[in-house]
Amino acid sequence: MSDTLLLERPGRLAILTREIAEPAAGELRVRIRFAGICGSDLHYFLHGGFGKVRMQGPMILGHESCGMIEAVGPGVDPGRIGEWVAVNPSLPCGECDECRTGRSRFCVDMRFMGSAMRNPPIEGAFRQHVICSEAQAVPFTGEALEEAALAEPLAVCLHAVAQTGDLSGKRVLITGFGPIGALCLLAARHAGAAYIAVTDISPNALELARKLGADDAFESSRAGALDGLTRGRGQMDASFECSAHPSAIADAIAATRPCGTVVQVGMLAAETTAPLTHIVTKELNFRGTFRFDVEFAEAVRLIASRQIDIRPLISQRLPLTAADKAFALAQDRSRSMKVLFDLS
Ligand code: ZN
Repeated sequence: MSDTLLLERPGRLAILTREIAEPAAGELRVRIRFAGICGSDLHYFLHGGFGKVRMQGPMILGHESCGMIEAVGPGVDPGRIGEWVAVNPSLPCGECDECRTGRSRFCVDMRFMGSAMRNPPIEGAFRQHVICSEAQAVPFTGEALEEAALAEPLAVCLHAVAQTGDLSGKRVLITGFGPIGALCLLAARHAGAAYIAVTDISPNALELARKLGADDAFESSRAGALDGLTRGRGQMDASFECSAHPSAIADAIAATRPCGTVVQVGMLAAETTAPLTHIVTKELNFRGTFRFDVEFAEAVRLIASRQIDIRPLISQRLPLTAADKAFALAQDRSRSMKVLFDLS
């Protein structure tokens, strides 16, 4: 039998026990070992969704997972059984215009795990067994399987960094230091950024930022902090706005030099205010970034080799039976960074 964590309605989680299913042709079954709680999971848990994406009924959350292949369907190499894998939550159709032009992240028929963008929703990874296409199971050759659970959020950040062009020797600002801000820091440093400053409202987050190698870390609520940041030292070549808070968006726009790039990584509400005039007068590139494509495999490789060492981000590991506690912890930024379910 297979334990599955169900979000019955906002605020109410329950464990459901189901039969273990068999993979069809081209599919395989992964025994999930670790799965991370993401900000979007929290949105479903707290508010039933975000923007126009609302849960229509009970759903299974989770899209940051890894485990071991334990069964394969017809046409899949049985030699893969026993392999450690990171599970790519994206299953694009492969046939639409976006897929055919190499931009499958915009697939018009995307099946993304743990998302209510489709009805019924695609089942997520907060369960012991996941069946996915062979290509979604990306081999992980690292020493500690749990690290592979961060491949998905790292892929998001590698894609965000790819929006800026070459970062080597550049000055970078990161506003908002949750898991995505932290992974943007590591990804920007890996891309060669020479100087990285971080702003956040949580002293805890700023402490971790320094530990992860930020050159400066400021309380974003502190008046004038940003002036101190840019005064006499030049503005930022690129900013990664990871908080989606209007004041942080304004900070990122103010701190970025003329012709620089602001990448909006945090998911904005439909109507968010921002000082757009400075985008005009400084000729800023204000870029969105959405999920990832090829960056997933790259993230798996960088984590496995520890060229990007994500270990300091993993703050707690809890069993599925402690789901309420895990979701409470994931909301409390003074006590957690990345909370993982340990389904071993
Ligand atoms: Zn498609």
